[in-house]
Amino acid sequence: MERIDNNMLLRKQPISMLVVDDSEDDAFLLYSEMASRGAKVDYRRVDNAPQMREALEAAEWDIIICDHSMPGFDALSALDILKRSGKDIPFIIYSGHISDQTAYSAMGEGVNDYIQKGNFARLLPVIERELKGAAARSAVRQADTRIMELAYFDKLSALPNHNYFCMRVNEHIAECERLGKAPCGTLLYIDLDRFLRINSSFGYEAGNDILRQTSARLKECVAESGAILARFGGDEFGIFYPGLTDRLAVQNFAEWLKQAFDAPFMHAGIELYLTCSIGLALVPDDGREVYDLLMNAETAMANAKRGGGNGHRFYVREMNATSAERIAMESELRHAIERDELFLQFQPCIDAGTLRTIGAEALVRWRHPERGLIPPDRFIPIADESGLIVDIGEWVLRQSCRQAKAWHELGHADISISVNVSAVQFGQPRLLEVVSRALAETGLPPQALTLEITESAVMHDAEQAAGMLRALKHMGVRLSIDDFGTGYSSLSYLKRFPIDILKIDKSFIRALGINEEDGAIVHTIMALAKSLRLTTIAEGVETPQQVELLQKEQCDRFQGFHFSRPVDHAVMTERLQEEQRKACATLH
Ligand code: C2E
Ligand code: MG
Ligand code: MG
Repeated sequence: MERIDNNMLLRKQPISMLVVDDSEDDAFLLYSEMASRGAKVDYRRVDNAPQMREALEAAEWDIIICDHSMPGFDALSALDILKRSGKDIPFIIYSGHISDQTAYSAMGEGVNDYIQKGNFARLLPVIERELKGAAARSAVRQADTRIMELAYFDKLSALPNHNYFCMRVNEHIAECERLGKAPCGTLLYIDLDRFLRINSSFGYEAGNDILRQTSARLKECVAESGAILARFGGDEFGIFYPGLTDRLAVQNFAEWLKQAFDAPFMHAGIELYLTCSIGLALVPDDGREVYDLLMNAETAMANAKRGGGNGHRFYVREMNATSAERIAMESELRHAIERDELFLQFQPCIDAGTLRTIGAEALVRWRHPERGLIPPDRFIPIADESGLIVDIGEWVLRQSCRQAKAWHELGHADISISVNVSAVQFGQPRLLEVVSRALAETGLPPQALTLEITESAVMHDAEQAAGMLRALKHMGVRLSIDDFGTGYSSLSYLKRFPIDILKIDKSFIRALGINEEDGAIVHTIMALAKSLRLTTIAEGVETPQQVELLQKEQCDRFQGFHFSRPVDHAVMTERLQEEQRKACATLH
């Protein structure tokens, strides 16, 4: 990240300044005044619109100082040129007297400030402030780009990843709906046949090489077609082909993809022959939402594999054995609360400075009488789809608050509890009532409760989200963005919401100390979170080396297997008591 200098005007490299003024004397006076105060300035003066346009297109200026009105053109037309160029450069009007009204309306148009000619006392602090502001904005933009790269691209293949794919498919469908057009297209789920054999016979490097070659071949197949290609992970790829729904055309396209595997793959002088299985799901017949389409195309792909591989299958409803299982699970989930099959585990949250437990995240589990322990990743989506999440969420909230209150009463009054809120829950106005009731019934102070919301939930409907977050904030609860870095958002966007905590996703932490570039991303996220005054939590901390690196990054809190796996309430209570005993012992 670009360092934000404390004293921009005196920094070593010169400030490149564009002065738009018909008076050469005024411009020179401005320059000499800045130079006399120690600023190194490279300045160029222009005094007409064509020159201004040329100057803007040619260079990235640090700052633009513009007279208000000049013969034939004025500051607002200059600003207009700047805006059209899409550049974010501080723009200051520098002129003889103009009315307050004119100055305010210019600022409404995007002018950063107005300075009266000769008012050098104001000029330098304003320039310095604007340079700092621009540097901070550019640092946020750079960080966003890097986070996007990490969140949306697959390093191995240099193709977009699953996240990106889902976002683009949903965008396409939403755009069709917005234009009143029926969305249509085909999602192809491609999986290499018996790929594991390559890894086990020739090693991972050979496997990676083949995956890169496969990516290149698929890329050629979709070139200029407008189709979106992504690597989902492992040996799985996806293509979304907008507009393609004619079954015969789809079939031809699938055949064409298969032909891309006809020629042998070469690795270290050895010829390797590979085939693939392709599952096909059509919009809108097989779904109008990317996750449905993916699920159905994957089912069809698995079916093609069962048929011996090297082929394609269209999705048909009967294939969906898993959907039958889902329906069964849904009806059993309905009774899970009343049958007392749900329970909570707690994962300690550790303060990075003292390494003491300062809170816990509540994680729900389902102990199914026949299926055994079911992890939340498997049943929360079903609860979301069926609306059962409302009841489950309410139960989790009440139980969590009750538990936290119990810890307070045992003398651990500074322990806070974090509760996950799913996107569906977050979208329901009832959430406010549910939260306030849980707090009132248990007597837990609101500031001891943190709600964890994922980025995608917030970004789904930013307007609604902003309103909901403000209302929750007003209640006094803390708000945290969970799995940061995996959703669709950017830090500059999140800045608009009243958020307290950023939980950096496990995938970033895992890469720490292994990959320098990913380390740089964590560094960037930490620095920006600091500048936005957010508390940072690293989740999925598994090794002492990660702890050390995160401490260096001044990460505020840790969560992860290195400290503790999620545990039952009794184990958590024992942990708190033990820490308290130790603290007392060191005091005495
Ligand atoms: P999450 O909120 O990001 O929770 C953290 C997950 O990471 C937990 O998985 C936890 O067991 C796991 N984890 C913690 N430390 C480590 C580590 O060091 N390494 C690794 N590899 N994993 C670690 P879990 O319990 O399976 O929960 C998965 C997700 O299910 C949660 O992700 C959350 O999104 C959702 N979830 C859990 N409980 C609830 C709930 O009560 N309500 C809702 N709506 N969602 C829940
Ligand atoms: Mg969480
Ligand atoms: Mg998380």
